[in-house]
Amino acid sequence: MTEPKITQLQPLPDDWQRALAVVAHPDDLEYGCSAAIAAWTDAGREVAYVLATRGEAGIDTLDPAVCGPLREREQRASAAAVGVTTVEFLDHRDGVIEYGLALRRDIAAAIRRHRPELVLTLNHRDTWGGVAWNTPDHVAVGRATLDAAADAGNRWIFPELAEQGLEPWNGVRRVAVAGSSSPTHAVDATPGLERAVRSLLEHRTYIEALTKQDPETYVRDFLTASTQGAAERFGGKPAVAFEVFSR
Ligand SMILES: [Zn+2]
Repeated sequence: MTEPKITQLQPLPDDWQRALAVVAHPDDLEYGCSAAIAAWTDAGREVAYVLATRGEAGIDTLDPAVCGPLREREQRASAAAVGVTTVEFLDHRDGVIEYGLALRRDIAAAIRRHRPELVLTLNHRDTWGGVAWNTPDHVAVGRATLDAAADAGNRWIFPELAEQGLEPWNGVRRVAVAGSSSPTHAVDATPGLERAVRSLLEHRTYIEALTKQDPETYVRDFLTASTQGAAERFGGKPAVAFEVFSR
């Protein structure tokens, strides 16, 4: 018997200057990606966030009218913890985001505004692996982001965007999907891990509603386990793993 060979993850290329992260909800980036983002902003790279919703349907005990503004504030603080100051909201409705032309158009417009070479998003697949079902919001936003990376470069798909002054941007070279069960690449999580903990901890209202555990213990345990999970395929180093689609 021979041990099954474990395929190693490749280092995510760093030949880029601007990244745009597009996700459905406040906390989607902090539950996994933000250690990588902290390392990138340290290195002088620009990263901006676009969120499809304000996460207003995320806390059972809070009315969406109260929850939305609160989670927006928490998201801005969590972005600042990893060096990100641009956070935009597309105002789709939390929990019922529809995959379709409106979403593709909004994300294509964001890509044209920010002109990134790297686009990040969260798992667009039906599951997190095995039988852990994903949510329809993540699937819709992930798929629409992969599509919009191409839409942004085509003048004729959403011609109204150019009429609004948003010229085509065909410079997205990769879309990196976090939380995928089929990762291909990774980023060393060690330098950014402490700020990633601070960043996730900024979602305090959400976390306190989610668990009875001490928030800092919960956050540290979660991020340590998730980055350690990728280590055996990344030379033993804790890592943030991505499934990368090149363009
Ligand atoms: Zn989410």
